[in-house]
Amino acid sequence: MQLVTGTLLHCLPKSPVQLEHSPETTLLIDDHGRIEAKGSLADLQKQHPKAPVIDYKDRLLVPGFLDTHIHFPQMDMIGAMAPSLLPWLEKYTFPTEMGFRGRSDLMLKAAHQFVDELLANGTTLACVYSSSNHDVTDLLFEVFAQRGLRGIIGKTSMNRHAPAPLLVPLADDISQQKALLQRWHGFDQRLALALTPRFAPSCTPDLMHALGELHAEYPDTYIQTHYAENVGELLWIKELFPEARDYLEVYESFQLLGPRTILAHGIHVEEDAMQRLAQTQTIISHCPTSNLFLGSGLFAWRKMEEHGVPIVLGTDVGAGTSFSLWQTMNEAYKVAALRGTPLQPVDLLAAATWKAAQALGLTDVGSLEVGYQADFQVINIRARPLLERRVKSASSAAEVLAALIHLADDRCVESVWVNGKQLRSS
Ligand SMILES: [Zn+2]
Repeated sequence: MQLVTGTLLHCLPKSPVQLEHSPETTLLIDDHGRIEAKGSLADLQKQHPKAPVIDYKDRLLVPGFLDTHIHFPQMDMIGAMAPSLLPWLEKYTFPTEMGFRGRSDLMLKAAHQFVDELLANGTTLACVYSSSNHDVTDLLFEVFAQRGLRGIIGKTSMNRHAPAPLLVPLADDISQQKALLQRWHGFDQRLALALTPRFAPSCTPDLMHALGELHAEYPDTYIQTHYAENVGELLWIKELFPEARDYLEVYESFQLLGPRTILAHGIHVEEDAMQRLAQTQTIISHCPTSNLFLGSGLFAWRKMEEHGVPIVLGTDVGAGTSFSLWQTMNEAYKVAALRGTPLQPVDLLAAATWKAAQALGLTDVGSLEVGYQADFQVINIRARPLLERRVKSASSAAEVLAALIHLADDRCVESVWVNGKQLRSS
């Protein structure tokens, strides 16, 4: 048992989602890392006089972020400029990913640095694409297990349309997926395997079929892939799959959609496909810093939402330019504004925390309510004097949150907790 005090700022787990801003509030965290009670320090101390107290005073306690789309190898190529997705993949991404193979001190250091960056930015769960290499993916899982944050991690499957060193033949890919599945899927409550066909052009139909079958055999694995990011990609899909009525049907036909599938981007999508996404409760990970960087397009948040598609947020490093979900939220705000359909601060926080967890089937993550996991970040607004000044002039909880969305960054993250344990303190 321990007591942690601060100012809570989080989404209450209800629909429609509600923001709670609650100063001088104490969380009682039980020995399983769960929030057992919430209230005043004096009251909780009376009931649990022996529990140690950590008093963060006026610091904000915000749920840890869920980054639902990020590429481990691509941290080495943030800001690699190219005219659009396909030339960017060829010129920078594939050569970078070729270096991410095997077990070595270099790869171990890279995995730790990747985790350092996630935690520095308040991310407590990440959906990660490793490279197509088994050993480096295994190593990444190991580092996540050791460091204690949550990870839905996948070895990227690709068997065509990339340089030979990145391609893994179907039979090898499936046996490597099975090895990762046996070792890491559900290793503890924090880790899960995502089957990760890079995107349809990188995988032959029989590879996608085999991955769909593997998911049917192990239905609690996740699936993650890219979808309808870029106009050039759409034309290529038409060439490769002339029989499919649209891009979504390619994934549909291999049983790759459903409530455990995360499709990154989903920008160029017809209403009919939005309906099918909603029917299958397939999750769309909106990655605005990436979409703006590659000029991919402006995501139709409100329209997707009206259809009932679950929307979550991803940084998509390294086409994405930041590990920060604050930065991701503020770019998502601007993208929606450009479409003439502005978002509220609570919509953005929910998509980075509680709604993301709900979409992923994690019913006790993403809020600071009783019964939830004690996964949170401690935010010190004084780390940025401009943010402190702006927060002081805010007249509501929504305005405080808006100030954070537009001004907070890794300088403000003082500490990060997952499952009741402090994983990082600055
Ligand atoms: Zn991506």
